[in-house]
Amino acid sequence: MNICVYCASSDLVPEPYKAAARAVGAGIAQRGWGLVYGGGSVGLMGAVARQVHAEGGSVIGIIPQALLDREVGYIDADELVVTLTMRERKRIMDERSDAFVTLPGGFGTLEELLEITTLRQLAYHDKPIFLVNVDGFYDPLLAMFDQIFAQSFAHERHRRLVTVVRSVDEVFAALDAYTPPLPPDAATASDLA
Ligand code: AMP
Repeated sequence: MNICVYCASSDLVPEPYKAAARAVGAGIAQRGWGLVYGGGSVGLMGAVARQVHAEGGSVIGIIPQALLDREVGYIDADELVVTLTMRERKRIMDERSDAFVTLPGGFGTLEELLEITTLRQLAYHDKPIFLVNVDGFYDPLLAMFDQIFAQSFAHERHRRLVTVVRSVDEVFAALDAYTPPLPPDAATASDLA
């Protein structure tokens, strides 16, 4: 599986968030999965990617040319996909990933989480989305989600779109029990066999 991780580009964030980022990187690599992410070398993004490599895993970074030009790209990535636009970058991140894990982050992270959630709500995909609420960082956002459900801006059944957990261990417990669906062409091949 490839796991997409959304997280902060800031290096100045509290240490527990960095520890969570390293734990996500370690968990991905130890399972032989790949990391898909924004391709940055900074902040929690860099921490996840470096930990994947430290544990012998593989890193796929998807980064727009403009960010690479600012020398914030993780040039040690096993695969660095350079895109023209942010939109193209997010499309490739979506396509290459089997599940999405959101760690604490700023506006970029929030935007990524909300977009992938909206796409699932509208049935553009049905891949699992996790929100890791490390030390309650996301409590205000979850209160906003409650408000959205309480006032019928989204149907209660859409609570299932995002799985909220308190720890990285809970993400991996859920992912260990998850089998991604076969791609359509693979299903056809096995039906014919
Ligand atoms: P933020 O939460 O605002 O720090 O934004 C982080 C998210 O936006 C990441 O998940 C990335 O996909 C993207 N992003 C923001 N800054 C960068 C950067 N310097 N290099 C690569 N991606 C970035």
